Amino acid sequence: MSSTTPSFSQEQVIHNVGVVRSHIAEICGDAAQSVQLVAVTKNFGLEAWEWARDAGCDAVGENYAQEALAKALAADSGKRLLLHFIGHLQSNKLAQLYGKVHTWQTIDRESVILGLAKLYAAHGGAVPSVLLQVNIAAEAQKSGCHPRDVAKLVELARLSQLHVGGLMAMGPTNGDLAETRQTFRETRKMCNEMGLLECSAGMSHDYRIALEEGATMIRVGSAIFGERPQ
Ligand SMILES: *Cc1c(COP(=O)(O)O)cnc(C)c1O
Repeated sequence: MSSTTPSFSQEQVIHNVGVVRSHIAEICGDAAQSVQLVAVTKNFGLEAWEWARDAGCDAVGENYAQEALAKALAADSGKRLLLHFIGHLQSNKLAQLYGKVHTWQTIDRESVILGLAKLYAAHGGAVPSVLLQVNIAAEAQKSGCHPRDVAKLVELARLSQLHVGGLMAMGPTNGDLAETRQTFRETRKMCNEMGLLECSAGMSHDYRIALEEGATMIRVGSAIFGERPQ
């Protein structure tokens, strides 16, 4: 496990979370209470989980199976935040993480849906909560399913007894802000069309655009903890 301390102090982290919360309140008004702030803690040590919890974040987000597992095993389960998995999912890592992850945000293909369903059938526990990751712009090198496959995968996940909370998307890799807005708008529209409540969109540099376009979940790392060690 990485044991790297966030580049900001705990006081700064609390301050930064306050700033993000104030943006949420400003942009979302009455809907602010239903917006979840996922603190992205990849590459930082366990104290990032503790600080995120103390600062009042709603969940922590991790990208790498080994690192997520190590932190989940080391953290006091009674006191830790819910863990969202937000990295590329390899089917052979599902079993290790099963029972540790609360929300699987990067479900993008049939094999991982069936893999989770199989684990649920074998081990039970809480119904796995999933978001379908959609590659809205259909960019070639990006994770996420093609927009045309979303409805089919949502149906498969539901038939497989998984709880489908909504969709997850990332802005375009070129960082173009107009395109970013368009991506988030289309994601929200797809959620609405399918009656899905959660729309996970927006990171440090574009979460405000995401909130303006109706995101209910933002995934923020460096704006809270500072620059990430590689
Ligand atoms: C790393 C990561 C984030 C957070 O990125 P920041 O720019 O540090 O806020 C959000 N979502 C996903 C999927 C990530 O991999």
